[in-house]
Parts: sequence; C-alpha cells; structure tokens
Amino acid sequence: MSDVSAHPSLSGYEVPIDSWTQPFWDATATRKLVLPRCADCDRFRWPPGPFCPGCHSQRVEWVPAGDGQIYSFTIITKGDGDQHQVFVPALIEFPEAGGLRLVAAIVETPLAAVRIGARVELSWSHAANATVPVFKIVTL
Ligand SMILES: [Zn+2]
Repeated sequence: MSDVSAHPSLSGYEVPIDSWTQPFWDATATRKLVLPRCADCDRFRWPPGPFCPGCHSQRVEWVPAGDGQIYSFTIITKGDGDQHQVFVPALIEFPEAGGLRLVAAIVETPLAAVRIGARVELSWSHAANATVPVFKIVTL
C-alpha cells in the first residue's frame, strides 16, 4: 500500500481550554508533552479534571509523557481517486505514564508501517488557539 497518512488541518478548530487543561496546552506551546499525575497518590489521570479518581485529591503535577506506542488505530479515507486523503486517528499509550492513552493523529506515515505496538515520536499541528500533539511512527 503506497498511501501515506495525511496531516489533518486543525487551523479552523478552537481547542476548549480550562484551568485544568491549561498546563497541558502551555507545555505543548513549547513543544513538550506533559501528562497530569496526582501529587498525592501518583496515579496518572486523563482527561485532566478537578479530582483524582483514585484518592479525590486536587493536587496535580505535570510530568513528561515518556515514549508512546500505538494502542489502537483506524484508517479513514476522505475523497476518492487521485484527490483522496487518508487519516489515521489512534490511541497512543504511554507506558511510563501508567498506561495513559491519548487520542491523536498518526501523520506523514506510510500506512504499511502503522501497526499496534509501533513506537511513535512527537510531531505538532496547530489549531486556532493551541499547538496540538500528533505522532509519526519511529522507523529504525
Ligand atoms: Zn490521587
């Protein structure tokens, strides 16, 4: 298969940001990916919110996500013929962050390389008001 996953255009999309997600978006603006961990029981939590689901603490620390891998994905084709584009939304799992999973796009990657367990590296896309993490497959 010669198709390569497209980079979705997010420029017209405004990301909803609140006080609980602001640290995440502050970090992505500097091209860093951080994830929220309870400062009392060390449980990672997603989505960010006011209470830890484990101990109900409101104390959060934001820590580097570590390496990610594809937990699951799907392939979406838009258009047909020579004008078609292929998008690959995926669940990216972060083993060093308690197995927390983010929904994100796999971009600029040959479809033949997209598989469960594939290691990914960060890339970036831009919404109207935020820098959004997307991923590419790590090829060794
Ligand atoms: Zn907790």
